Amino acid sequence: MQPILSLENVYYSYHNLKGETPAIEGMSFQVMEGEFLAIVGPSGCGKSTLLSIISGLLKAEHGSLSFDPCLTIGYMLQHDHLFEWRTIYQNVILGLELNKNVTKENTDYVLQLLKDYGLYSFKDQKPSQLSGGMRQRAALIRTMAVKPELLLLDEPFSALDFQTRMTVSADIGNIIRNTGKTAILITHDLSEAITLADRVLVLSKRPSCVKYELNVSYDIERTSALSIRNTVQYQTYFNTLWKELSDDN
Ligand code: ADP
Repeated sequence: MQPILSLENVYYSYHNLKGETPAIEGMSFQVMEGEFLAIVGPSGCGKSTLLSIISGLLKAEHGSLSFDPCLTIGYMLQHDHLFEWRTIYQNVILGLELNKNVTKENTDYVLQLLKDYGLYSFKDQKPSQLSGGMRQRAALIRTMAVKPELLLLDEPFSALDFQTRMTVSADIGNIIRNTGKTAILITHDLSEAITLADRVLVLSKRPSCVKYELNVSYDIERTSALSIRNTVQYQTYFNTLWKELSDDN
């Protein structure tokens, strides 16, 4: 496997009238092609800042970030940001419209995604007519429509209630895994991280760096979040991460 992205000794601080807030200090890691990487860490440690640096919204002050300049990145946020004045179909093709890329091939691909993710019969409805889980799936289709090679997921399930969250995160995890996309998931939910990811990075408190790395694999297929949670491996991973995060206080 090739690294699709490498961070080497990255630093970032916020500057305002009150002074400087160091957010990231000496962050280094690589992401392999096709890998599902989860990043966990205490609240306010710099997780969103890190994704903003990777997506190019913020520029690292020191250190290097290397990836193929042609790499296409899709960003999925905590809130679905679907526009109520557009139908679900009009929402999911928004990225294609903005990129002036509404071709027959691309709209066929979007219609197929709507079918695969159980939203085809809702394509002419408005976002408010859908449940939270369906809206989040629509947001994923909008992100996938532009065929990104790297998906950045910033707490995409945290606005959902517990049960929906478990089902939708497992669904979305399977979709990403089956399409072989590379994904970086930011989450504060340890269960979510070890259910979905191949590898979990634990960040220290602010200014953050990688303080622990956990490789995750199971003897069973990851088709159901519940069966994963019942494995001994899951319990061991959970306890390890819990201890790593608790040791930071
Ligand atoms: P996380 O996603 O882990 O909760 P963030 O990346 O959002 O953390 O923020 C990291 C730290 O940087 C926090 O302590 C936050 O208060 C600070 N921060 C974030 N945005 C700004 C900003 N625009 N100006 C000053 N400080 C900021």
